[in-house]
Amino acid sequence: MTKYIFVTGGVTSSLGKGIISASLAKLLQARGLSATIQKFDPYINVDPGTLNPYEHGECYVTDDGAETDLDLGYYERFLNVPTSQANNVTTGRIYQTVIQKERKGDYLGKTVQVIPHITDEIKRRMMLLGQSGEFNVVITELGGTVGDIESLPYLEAVRQMKWDVGSDNCLVIHLTLLPYLEAAKELKTKPTQHSVKQLQNAGIQPDLLVCRTDHDITMDIRRKVALFCNVDVSSVIEAKTAKTVYDVPLLMLEEQLDRVVINKLRIMDKKEPDLKQWKRFLKQLKNPTHKIKIGLIGKYIELKDAYKSIYESFILAGAKNECYVEVIPVQSDYIDKNNVKNKLEGLDGILVAPGFGDRGFEGKINAVQFARENSIPFFGICLGMQTAVIEFARNVLHLQDANSTEMDKKTAHPIIHLMKEQETITKKGGTMRLGKYPCQIKKESKAYQIYKKEMIEERHRHRFEFNNDYKSQLEEAGMICSGIYPDKNLVEIIEIPKHPWFIAAQFHPEYKSTVENPHPLFVSFIKACMKYSR
Ligand code: GLN
Repeated sequence: MTKYIFVTGGVTSSLGKGIISASLAKLLQARGLSATIQKFDPYINVDPGTLNPYEHGECYVTDDGAETDLDLGYYERFLNVPTSQANNVTTGRIYQTVIQKERKGDYLGKTVQVIPHITDEIKRRMMLLGQSGEFNVVITELGGTVGDIESLPYLEAVRQMKWDVGSDNCLVIHLTLLPYLEAAKELKTKPTQHSVKQLQNAGIQPDLLVCRTDHDITMDIRRKVALFCNVDVSSVIEAKTAKTVYDVPLLMLEEQLDRVVINKLRIMDKKEPDLKQWKRFLKQLKNPTHKIKIGLIGKYIELKDAYKSIYESFILAGAKNECYVEVIPVQSDYIDKNNVKNKLEGLDGILVAPGFGDRGFEGKINAVQFARENSIPFFGICLGMQTAVIEFARNVLHLQDANSTEMDKKTAHPIIHLMKEQETITKKGGTMRLGKYPCQIKKESKAYQIYKKEMIEERHRHRFEFNNDYKSQLEEAGMICSGIYPDKNLVEIIEIPKHPWFIAAQFHPEYKSTVENPHPLFVSFIKACMKYSR
């Protein structure tokens, strides 16, 4: 029987439900259980693919091409198990399914209502991964905060789930905040009491409370929270603000979160968690022997979350190299020919980020040119690759107005153009080239030395592509196309062999970097930056 764990949030948003869920899943996995995590988001977009990064941070992409919440990135980085379309569900998706069923006449003349039709669809999706038989434990993170109007159908579904599968098979963890009042020199429990009351009003008694705090929680406070929130003292878990999110699994281990969970769910296998590999990673992370500075050139840099997986990939690949990577975000909007040297001088490497639209594009071109001409390690991702090819066409092939048709529809040299199958697409949602595709790597290339294999699979999210009409010109001038999607002959990786490290990819390696397997391109790029810095 699959066990279901629900994680709700109270008092404020941003308490880190995703990290707590991923940490608990990690501990259960380390005990030999197979666990997965899914996120239910209460907004009406069918998926976050159409959301501006400023609204919602990065859009994370799965192997099967789902555009998802960035928390799924943490699930994969922690567990090293791929997620899928089923791991992220939104209110929009739920309603879309129910309305489509209604239009087909599946409800046989009944009035379609939030209860039971919407809640039934929520429950069906809550159990989908559990029913696959692949997982002992399914952790479901509920987005939003208890008390929000849009969360109500989800809470009702959780209440019913507890009843449907029985309390031995289902539990609710409530993540809450204990604020510290400087004047009183005290942690306050009242907001937590109120937020648990909200849950109780919805018919849910939480089984465990994970309390975010900046100070130690004394036994007195634990008892007080337990008494007023109706849980046992051992179910009050302290989650003190950690130095890095990667410390959280060990902090949760110390607090015995996993032990309380398996006892409550009557999971009989009491094997102690094996976290050797995780601890080794933390040791490397915390004892760097090198430090480098890498410029992240993008147009959403004011919001770190917009490039979450890239930042995390630097941390993971940095640890592998025992190197602390300081990422310097550079707003591409403000890089021009005159200030580029000033802005990028002193960096040990330059990464041009993915992106959409023409804002900041010319700044990215200037950054690529600076990296190429000064032999600074350069890594381009998605739009970063497209920029690198255009820069080369403009400044090496002297095709002055080379461009992408995304930026200039009428350019005389459409070095990057819309993919054939994209030409007739008018709808924006879920219509890009999404998810994993195979890529064949040329043997005589740096990419081959890095991946050490000929066939790889990487994840995509784009509409535009390299225009093969320009391939031979570019190759004659010293750029090679080292990765190709064989079915459609699409260029996926380019390199400049004469440059110490100049690689760009049409896919997103950052989505596949995990604690266990930091992405080889990031590992190699950091190595090159370390060499450059010496
Ligand atoms: N805007 C470009 C395209 O659609 C690149 C997308 C990206 O960087 N993710 O092809």
